[in-house]
Amino acid sequence: MNISAIKKDIHTLIDEQSAPVLDLVKDIGAHPELGFKEFRTSNIVNDFLNHSGYETKRGLALTGIKTQLKKEHVRPNIAFIAELDGITCSESSRKDKATHNCGHNLQLGVLLSVAQAFKKSGISSVLGGNISFIASPAEEYIELEYRSELRKRGDIRYFGGKQELISRGVFDDVDAAIMVHSQGNTPYPFVGAVNTGNGLIAEMIRYIGKSAHAAVPDEGINALNAAILGINAVNAMRETFRDEDRNRVHFIITKGGDAVNSVPSDVRLECFVRSCNVVSMLQLLEQTEKSFRSGGSALGAKVRFKRLSGYLPLMCNPELNSLFTVNARQHIPENRVKTIDFFKASTDMGDITHLMPAIHPLVGGVDGALHAADFKMVDATAAIITPAKIVASTLIDLLSGNAAKMRSITGNYRPLLTKPVYLDLLDSLFRNN
Ligand SMILES: [Zn+2]
Ligand SMILES: [Zn+2]
Repeated sequence: MNISAIKKDIHTLIDEQSAPVLDLVKDIGAHPELGFKEFRTSNIVNDFLNHSGYETKRGLALTGIKTQLKKEHVRPNIAFIAELDGITCSESSRKDKATHNCGHNLQLGVLLSVAQAFKKSGISSVLGGNISFIASPAEEYIELEYRSELRKRGDIRYFGGKQELISRGVFDDVDAAIMVHSQGNTPYPFVGAVNTGNGLIAEMIRYIGKSAHAAVPDEGINALNAAILGINAVNAMRETFRDEDRNRVHFIITKGGDAVNSVPSDVRLECFVRSCNVVSMLQLLEQTEKSFRSGGSALGAKVRFKRLSGYLPLMCNPELNSLFTVNARQHIPENRVKTIDFFKASTDMGDITHLMPAIHPLVGGVDGALHAADFKMVDATAAIITPAKIVASTLIDLLSGNAAKMRSITGNYRPLLTKPVYLDLLDSLFRNN
């Protein structure tokens, strides 16, 4: 059977099996769960995979799932990933404010469509490698207190689901990774192949001064003034940012003092630094700490930093992206298949892209902004069915003919970090200073 006939069969299967997938997407969309708590979602996805003939490993990083098309371990092995978690949105009527306004339920629909079609087609014997389907927990970088508690209890070591899966060896037998993500305000069929994106590091900052009656401030050390000086130093350093590093620093004051009648002695901030490569991200972190520290030095306040890790920049593989866009053009008009040079937000898929060839293309079919109250799917074909066909075709291209294309991409690829160096880096980003 030739490649286009195989693709056509898979596409037909995706169409024929779309109704139960779309029901499931709707159900998960109506029952969003936040990171590392996606137990119901995980059960539903797992049941669907089992029903489709897959044996699954579950409970990975609490809620993650992994399964593979061929039972035997065959390389190269390509992971197709979807994310399980929702995002908080203040307009949500739910107590935990969870929503699926980042469209991760749509990703799960894509994953299940592809997994089901490959199983039903019986074409695994003509593919020269394997496909792992991975449902990953906790992509959204939120609820840091809760994740700190999980970390303290030893339930997780890292705050991102993919980071945790990497550390637990789930990607050890994986040679490349693909996922798709919704692009906000794109209510029509669309594919945007993202090249790069910013990483982030989160940090909590505490200024410790000396309390005194506010009428006799000479007896105290004003931690709020120290913090304001630190903020001004951070703002002054912005003019030194190089355009190519795409640096961002943003922060909030979470505690500004206790009573206006007392000299503030305990002032707290939360801060994110973002940059588009690991070197500049670490430099920016050091620079930012130095600036915040200067405010403390000027007034004699102590400054404490608690690093909370973050996500690495996104560095997508050009060859995989190009194959994906070639397949996208089979389903989507030319002017709606684009290259997106830079993705401003951060994702733990960035971590994956440092270890293996990987891509994170954006797809349409949704209206409203990501994470916003007006986000909604408006075109299930564009959001789920067409992306599933494009992913399936890309996987077939990579693995057909003894996986020649995948082997060639792997041969040309040099990882940006090895796994031990990567895990050391993550650990260093949890250090308290
Ligand atoms: Zn999101
Ligand atoms: Zn997302």
